[in-house]
Amino acid sequence: MMTAIIQTTRLTKKYGGQIAVNDLNMTVKQGQIYGFLGQNGAGKTTTIRMLLGLIKPTSGTIEMFGEHLYDKQREILRRVGSIVEFSGFYENLTARENLMINASLVGVHTKNAIDEALEIVGLQGEPSKKVEKFSLGMKQRLGIARAILHHPELLILDEPTNGLDPIGIKEIRNMIKSLAEERKITILVSSHILSEVELLADHIGIIHLGKLLEEVSFTELRQRNRKFLEFQVSNDNRAVMLLEQHLAITDYEVRDEGIIRVYSHIGQQGKINKMLVDHQIEVTRIALSEDKLEDYFVRMIGGDKIG
Ligand code: ATP
Repeated sequence: MMTAIIQTTRLTKKYGGQIAVNDLNMTVKQGQIYGFLGQNGAGKTTTIRMLLGLIKPTSGTIEMFGEHLYDKQREILRRVGSIVEFSGFYENLTARENLMINASLVGVHTKNAIDEALEIVGLQGEPSKKVEKFSLGMKQRLGIARAILHHPELLILDEPTNGLDPIGIKEIRNMIKSLAEERKITILVSSHILSEVELLADHIGIIHLGKLLEEVSFTELRQRNRKFLEFQVSNDNRAVMLLEQHLAITDYEVRDEGIIRVYSHIGQQGKINKMLVDHQIEVTRIALSEDKLEDYFVRMIGGDKIG
């Protein structure tokens, strides 16, 4: 069993009458890159702020590294690095100067830690540039450098790629992956973009209207997504009737006009095709396919698209 690094139990946050986070049981295990996926307003930031001790839950508990957060908040949060909201750099100082200030604030006194952090985020080549001249991507990288200065075991990143261009997004993604692999840091990263989470995370928690709908590994998710045969035919009504009568196929779905998905009899496309053709159905296309992750999420959150 892998150790749980974050474990929330029935975690709830209400603002007045509104529930922002509702009975959330989240488990992030050691070594995971956990993608916390949800639309804007789903409750991601509220959850993360509770994990970082920035706001108090209305009810429920948070354990990190096996201890209750509010018993040992200082000790626990010393083992955590985060970027929560865009913030707090001195614009008229360089990256290194900013990190020196942060290092002394968090009690890191080795020059080495700063060099190392700058190197990891690829900012070592900008020794004299002031932060005011930084692109958004560079600032975000500096944010990550600040978050890893004290060698955290857990990194919590709230929408780290928000507002970045595709190249910036890729840089941040690669950086997060290498921090997980090389430094064995457990990572919780939130996003509202499914395709991004899919490229980055190995586990996913889906939050919708404050509820955690699902928590699953991508490996399992991909296995679970069902394969199907898709036929494009001249007359779907009659084709479906023939499938039922002649091959006892009942697990099917009629999609757009003329498109039928058959969820059983995978590998028997030849037989199905022959039967249809023998009964004067014209088959213009046959494909073996599986549900796209996106379809799956759209079904899960009841029709609203993520990302
Ligand atoms: P986003 O990506 O837009 O930040 P999110 O998933 O992080 O979305 P939250 O910011 O956690 O969502 O917000 C969850 C819900 O709680 C929203 O309906 C939001 O309006 C509400 N909320 C968040 N903070 C407060 C607050 N301080 N006071 C009142 N309501 C709040």
